[in-house]
Amino acid sequence: MEGEAVSGAQLIAQALRHQNIEYMFGIVGIPVTEIAIAAQAAGIKYVGMRNEQAACYAASAVGYLTGRPGVCLVVSGPGFLHALGGMANATINCWPLIVIGGSSDRNQETMGAFQEFPQVEAGRLYNKLSVRPSSVEVIPAVIEKAVRTSIYGRPGSCYIDIPGDFVNLQVNKSSVKYVECCLPPPISMAEHSAVSKAASILALSKQPLLIIGKGAAYSHAENNIRKLVDLCGLPFLPTPMAKGVVPDNHPNCVAAARSMALQHADVIILFGARLNWILHFGLPPRFRQDVKVIQIDVCAEELGNNVKPAAILLGDINAVTKQGLALQKSLPMNYYTVFHHIREMIPKNCILVSEGANTMDIGRTMLPNCYPRQRLDAGTFGTMGVGLGFAIAAAMVAKDRAPGKQVVCIEGDSAFGFSGMEVETICRYNLPILIIIVNNNGIYTGLDANSWKEMLKLGNPATCVPPVSLLPNSHYEEIMSAFGGKGYFVKTPEELRNALKASVTDKQTPSLINVMIDPQSERKKQEFPWLTRSNL
Ligand code: ADP
Ligand code: MG
Repeated sequence: MEGEAVSGAQLIAQALRHQNIEYMFGIVGIPVTEIAIAAQAAGIKYVGMRNEQAACYAASAVGYLTGRPGVCLVVSGPGFLHALGGMANATINCWPLIVIGGSSDRNQETMGAFQEFPQVEAGRLYNKLSVRPSSVEVIPAVIEKAVRTSIYGRPGSCYIDIPGDFVNLQVNKSSVKYVECCLPPPISMAEHSAVSKAASILALSKQPLLIIGKGAAYSHAENNIRKLVDLCGLPFLPTPMAKGVVPDNHPNCVAAARSMALQHADVIILFGARLNWILHFGLPPRFRQDVKVIQIDVCAEELGNNVKPAAILLGDINAVTKQGLALQKSLPMNYYTVFHHIREMIPKNCILVSEGANTMDIGRTMLPNCYPRQRLDAGTFGTMGVGLGFAIAAAMVAKDRAPGKQVVCIEGDSAFGFSGMEVETICRYNLPILIIIVNNNGIYTGLDANSWKEMLKLGNPATCVPPVSLLPNSHYEEIMSAFGGKGYFVKTPEELRNALKASVTDKQTPSLINVMIDPQSERKKQEFPWLTRSNL
């Protein structure tokens, strides 16, 4: 029985559509005109260009922007050759692309056919896959493989050669090897031990630098990389196409001092960027001889190129970033975690008061201000104990001039002690003040409860307790509840967020959030001149 017939051109178009291909760029001519027409009929947007090279560049950019390859359609011989630049560009950029090239009729091959050229062979150097379907019937299977190959692993270009006589050949639908749309690229995670190793290298670093490449942009890792930057207070440098993965105006962006950042970093985390000419191969004099590289890439063969890495994380950037975040989020919290959540949750237009040593230093880089005269801190004289008085004044002035404005007063535990009794004043006048104490059990650093107990066993506390230590786990929030305000004792990011949410929602009730952090948590040493300048 005669089944329904379908042409080669129609099979190509339908198979592409089936693989969720949306865009095709090209120039028509013998033998591919019918393919463009069939593509439009199948719902693919076809853009006719003026040179195959531009068409191929366009199709590859679609792949980068959408994660699904664009298709470039070219005629045989010169058309195909003009597209080689685009194929190379896509493959070197690690961008997915499908090129479909018409070629001579099979029965004229080696006879000097019109625009005859060994296209499959020529395509090999520029593509992850360069193939010709062995029959019209297998076209859907070959297209599925090409699309899959272009997006799985390290993305790149794939070439499919279509002999001219395939285009209008009619075949019976029942003989066609139809295949389903390929699954989205598998997301791989790095070895757990490699992630822990990277975390400990990072923890010991003095001048870490995150380099963000376009692989990070391609993997849509922006939200998680942003969290990691905030959580760890990491300085970062985007490569040209990775600009904006974390906004250029983020306070930790060191792009303005790129050379200096590269030269001084003792640990570099490479997020989807290659140590090629753009990054001076990772070698001296542009990098330190002893720089430790933590390399993250989806392509195993890339790991170790030019510099032997200190840790290698093979996997998808976004997934690996999440692994890193999970480690960093472990308890107790550190300053960067605490400030990250504070920054996310306090009103942008609040008045910020801060004092303390690390609390104020780190707060300066982590908590931005958008308006003048809305930040009060220890000031020229470096005075501790000004915080609550300043907060009360700010709340009084705001009451008259900017009603509804909240004052957020962020204090170190030691700094709070200098004026803690003013909490009674705050409650007496019912001022909209939120006090957050970043409590590390001491001045600069403190002791955890166990070390404290051990210490006391040594004898008279006055001779053995370190002068920087304060009583561990003090419940300063009870001072607030003693006077009728709301007090919160928090140890986890979740408790912190809940307490912040409640205090920001009910801003009229004075509140105090006592946040316990790791007593050993310290400021990351950022001896980068451009960063320390902002710390002065
Ligand atoms: P840049 O030009 O921004 O320096 P490169 O093109 O040199 O970036 O490097 C990009 C790297 O990102 C490549 O090595 C590529 O293998 C890698 N890459 C691409 N996609 C991903 C992904 N999803 N996860 C991890 N690495 C990726
Ligand atoms: Mg690069």
